[in-house]
Amino acid sequence: PKLTRKAEEESIKRSNALEQDEIGALRKVSRQEYLKKREQKKLEEIRDEIVDEQYLFEGVHLTETEKREIRYKKQIYDLVKKRSEEDDNVTEYRMPTAYDQEGGVNQEKRFAVAMERYRDQNAGDKMNPFAEQEAWEDHQIGKATLKFGSKDRKQISDDYKFVFEDQIEFIQDGMMDGVNFEDDSSVEFEKSMAESAFEKLQDDRKTLPVYPYRDALLQAVHDHQVLVIVGETGSGKTTQIPQYLHEGGYTKRGKIGCTQPRRVAAMSVAARVSQEMGVKLGHEVLGRNNHSLVCQVGYSIRFEDCTSDKTVLKYMTDGMLLREFLGEPDLSSYSVVMVDEAHERTLSTDILFGLVKDIARFRPDLKLLISSATLDAEKFSDYFDSAPIFKIPGRRFPVEINYTKAPEADYLDAAIVTALQIHVTQPCDGDILIFFTGQEEIETAEEILKHRTRGLGTKIAELIICPIYANLPTELQAKIFEPTPESARKVVLATNIAETSLTIDGIKYVIDPGFCKMKSYNPRTGMESLLVHPISKASANQRAGRSGRTGPGKCFRLYTAYNYYNDLEDNTVPEIQRTNLANVVLSLKSLGIHDLLNFDFMDPPPSEALLKALELLFALSALNKLGELTKVGRKMAEFPLDPMLSKMIVASEKYKCSDEVISIAAMLSIGSSIFYRPKDKQVHADNARMIFHTGNVGDHIALLKVYNSWRETNFSTQWCYENYIQVRSMKRARDIRDQLEGLLERVEIELTSNFNDLEAIKKAITSGYFPHSARMQKNGSYRTVKHPQTVYIHPSSGLAQALPRWVVYHELVLTSKEYMRQRKSNVGGVPLRLLRKAIALANV
Ligand code: ADP
Ligand code: MG
Repeated sequence: PKLTRKAEEESIKRSNALEQDEIGALRKVSRQEYLKKREQKKLEEIRDEIVDEQYLFEGVHLTETEKREIRYKKQIYDLVKKRSEEDDNVTEYRMPTAYDQEGGVNQEKRFAVAMERYRDQNAGDKMNPFAEQEAWEDHQIGKATLKFGSKDRKQISDDYKFVFEDQIEFIQDGMMDGVNFEDDSSVEFEKSMAESAFEKLQDDRKTLPVYPYRDALLQAVHDHQVLVIVGETGSGKTTQIPQYLHEGGYTKRGKIGCTQPRRVAAMSVAARVSQEMGVKLGHEVLGRNNHSLVCQVGYSIRFEDCTSDKTVLKYMTDGMLLREFLGEPDLSSYSVVMVDEAHERTLSTDILFGLVKDIARFRPDLKLLISSATLDAEKFSDYFDSAPIFKIPGRRFPVEINYTKAPEADYLDAAIVTALQIHVTQPCDGDILIFFTGQEEIETAEEILKHRTRGLGTKIAELIICPIYANLPTELQAKIFEPTPESARKVVLATNIAETSLTIDGIKYVIDPGFCKMKSYNPRTGMESLLVHPISKASANQRAGRSGRTGPGKCFRLYTAYNYYNDLEDNTVPEIQRTNLANVVLSLKSLGIHDLLNFDFMDPPPSEALLKALELLFALSALNKLGELTKVGRKMAEFPLDPMLSKMIVASEKYKCSDEVISIAAMLSIGSSIFYRPKDKQVHADNARMIFHTGNVGDHIALLKVYNSWRETNFSTQWCYENYIQVRSMKRARDIRDQLEGLLERVEIELTSNFNDLEAIKKAITSGYFPHSARMQKNGSYRTVKHPQTVYIHPSSGLAQALPRWVVYHELVLTSKEYMRQRKSNVGGVPLRLLRKAIALANV
């Protein structure tokens, strides 16, 4: 635990001196060993410092200040330890400086102030230097427990408060269980507060554009089995229609399922709806007025099922509903299925179309709603045998569209400049929404914006920066919905998610750089890549529309009018036509759908892509030569993973290392990164990381070592924090791993550990990933075996230092170095294919 910048600098100085001293002695030792030794030494140093104070001070001559410093460190250490042991609700504990990057609070400064104050006190004074720190932490923890749909019972009291908004003074740690609220006298008061917040929400519901059509809509659903619903984003389709149907009695004989293309949307909408209905999300009922409402709202996304057997409104990702078909081929527990955001045409949505259309034929009691934000609903109607279209008249104010005079090469910079320009020149009466392509860009933009506004001091109104992207921790996602204070302006930095899936009120200015990240797949080479791509005209117009929801808006496009009319496609190509289909083919096969070429696709995928998928599944022994599902394939289909990953798990049975292999699979499945590198501690972080790569074991084994080391510390938060590892990612990996363990049991594979036999583990990995093998060439590049092409090892891979002759890789990313380094838009860069997460294949 390093405390202040000063202490930090000193420690760096010390270790530099150490380096100088030891360099001669260590000359014969390899750099890696040297780094490892140094790291150990540092850890020992820290450990020494925080052992028992008594022991520490005994016979050692220390000044009072030094003693205080040590006591201070010990206190911090204890605090951290206590928290990580006692309070599982803390989603993370990070170095003070790391807060700065994440939470927008300059924690380091607060720390320095607390430290300063502490120093000023006389020895023995009881003043707690951590008061501020603790208060801040408590606040954070409070916020963290508001996260949607945690299944922890302990959080019930906090979740309850979420419904009441801002009633922070009522937060009490004592209320562990929500069932006996009636016994608590303070609850009476809370209830009356809830009443008003609840009523306000009910009033808000009535102002939505869909509200006047409530009865007409219910009538239409009653009269028709399939209905296509069209309405502007924000008109209330997602949050209101399922509630209307519930009120209309449709949940008496089954659930209402509503699919979303994105995880974040499913979670956030479910949280909103549970609030509006005054019920708990996914848990026990908490009725208002002591009525136990039998209604439940829940959500289900991959690796996270926040529903109970009382759930009647279920928001889920389209991929999850697809998986539910495996267990319940006629969806008999549903009375209504609403395929929402249909215009997005994700792969899973497209497959769902075919499946729900099929079951609707033999389940006349099942109601199907296909809802979309764009107006070309005829296509959906035609596909569903001329289903009627229900239009919800939109409410949108005029939007002024502005283009740049010349194309902007660096859109990131241009977007920031535009935002600041708006902020400084326009009255503080509306928020700004900027569309970026991904998390990395958003984080960079956030940093730059913070830096630039800091320079402006109090000369401008406060600018509240709110990022939103899929991997953003749930508790921070809620921030974008918080109302902006009068004298401030909010700037939302969003991915495509804000285009139609989420509605943020109060946006008046939209900045559209004109790009998004898009998957593309080349069926001939089997190569999949996620690339920054120009958006379509339809997307551009959706984005612009976001600014005119509450009043006249303005949209600033960072491209020219010529670009718009001549370069942009009219519509985005549906995902099914530009993706790897192996997963889908495996799912369809296990649903008993054999004739894929004649499956009722709305837009059929290229037959070449279908054949490629069949070929891969055959190679993985998931299908036999007749194209039928094998025993292996049946087991693979149980795992909600990419077929190559599932195969690796199924193969681990043979090599008796399923315990290790599911840990690796879990670690590979977390979307966000595991290691973090604070700006001012990059060297430390890199050294810590290299320890897991000792022996040049490759990235898969390194990930396993990380997981196992963490497990050995009994999942210690402190350990993560010492090793520059994201606690949150690790907890997610643990959750995923638990689920994979459950699935292993289901397919009757025994959990066996074989940690010392790395060869066995590598063999299991190779059973799944052999289609991804590559051989080194003379110049240090690699040549892939299937569809030969030249690729390089990604700099973040642990193998980058000593290149093995053969590798298998987890994924290929296509980047252009220029783009990565200079953050220029995709112009002019040389595309490079990189192997990310590779493992040496020697001796396998
Ligand atoms: P649609 O699905 O038609 O795009 P929604 O039902 O998602 O519309 O949203 C309707 C309204 O509900 C939005 O305008 C917004 O005011 C509100 N809303 C939706 N989700 C949230 C949320 N998570 N937090 C706060 N308000 C929300
Ligand atoms: Mg919606």
